Amino acid sequence: MPIDTETLSLVHYPAPILQERSKAVAEVNDEVRAVARRLIELMHEHEGVGLAAPQAGVPWRIFVTRGDEDEPDLVYINPELTLARTALEPFEEGCLSLPGIHVTVRRPTTATIVALDIDGNPFTVTSDDFIARIWQHEFDHLNGTLIINRMSPIDRLSTRKALKELKLAAGS
Ligand SMILES: [Zn+2]
Repeated sequence: MPIDTETLSLVHYPAPILQERSKAVAEVNDEVRAVARRLIELMHEHEGVGLAAPQAGVPWRIFVTRGDEDEPDLVYINPELTLARTALEPFEEGCLSLPGIHVTVRRPTTATIVALDIDGNPFTVTSDDFIARIWQHEFDHLNGTLIINRMSPIDRLSTRKALKELKLAAGS
């Protein structure tokens, strides 16, 4: 059944899709492109720096990142991520699927990503910039991993109430 991309909207924790592994995209066709465009729209609507398909309820291996002033927004289809063996850097992250929650996540500073773009063409980028952290955060979403799965015991305590409220809001 084709996806009605117009109706795709942001999914919040504890929706099960956020905790599942997404499936590889078999072919970059018009439907895949429409989903990617909707992800870009939602990312801007909610003022995010990145968004992964499961966050819009689609279990596909696609995510998008927001460009800087003179850089375009980018689409990554079937991404593969390689992390450099750098020291882990702690940084406070939020997530559009976990409103009100900010936790410190330690990640390598440098990464290389290989993916297909919105036209189905492969590309490779290496960065030691902030985008390398966004790639890791969004790539985690494709494997059902959330920042709350990577937080410290201290953050676990401090976010307990907010997580409980999200569960209550979802009626679960
Ligand atoms: Zn997120």
